[in-house]
Amino acid sequence: MRTRKVRGIARDTLQFILEASRSSLPVEFAGLLQVDKEIITEVLILPGTESSRMSALVRLYMLPNMQVAGSVHSHPSGDLRPSEPDLIFFSRTGDYNIIVGPPFDEQSFACYDGAGRRRDLAILDVEFKDDGFDDDFDDDEFKEDRP
Ligand SMILES: [Zn+2]
Repeated sequence: MRTRKVRGIARDTLQFILEASRSSLPVEFAGLLQVDKEIITEVLILPGTESSRMSALVRLYMLPNMQVAGSVHSHPSGDLRPSEPDLIFFSRTGDYNIIVGPPFDEQSFACYDGAGRRRDLAILDVEFKDDGFDDDFDDDEFKEDRP
């Protein structure tokens, strides 16, 4: 099942991805992205090699209620362009596929749609709570200060 509408990725989730990718070196980190209330907040970790990724994906899709918006994986080389197997993978995962690389900061990632085209992905400050996260932040963003 695919999730169509995605507003962006939670900053904490992106930080988790960057940290996991850094600590996985020299091995690649890979996962699937899950969405809650139109925001990417969850990462389902996959076995980390290009060859094992597709079979892991197939197994995961057999789980009930899997809502996958796309994928994430690291390129330890730092080249953020998708490889040929990546493009096949992207076409099956969804419209938000992130590749991260060194130095693993908020600038060192690229996002691609299911056809491998580069796309923007907003980084959102979301407040996580025990039972999910606070979805009220949109209201504050556009609130004007009144006397
Ligand atoms: Zn790759």
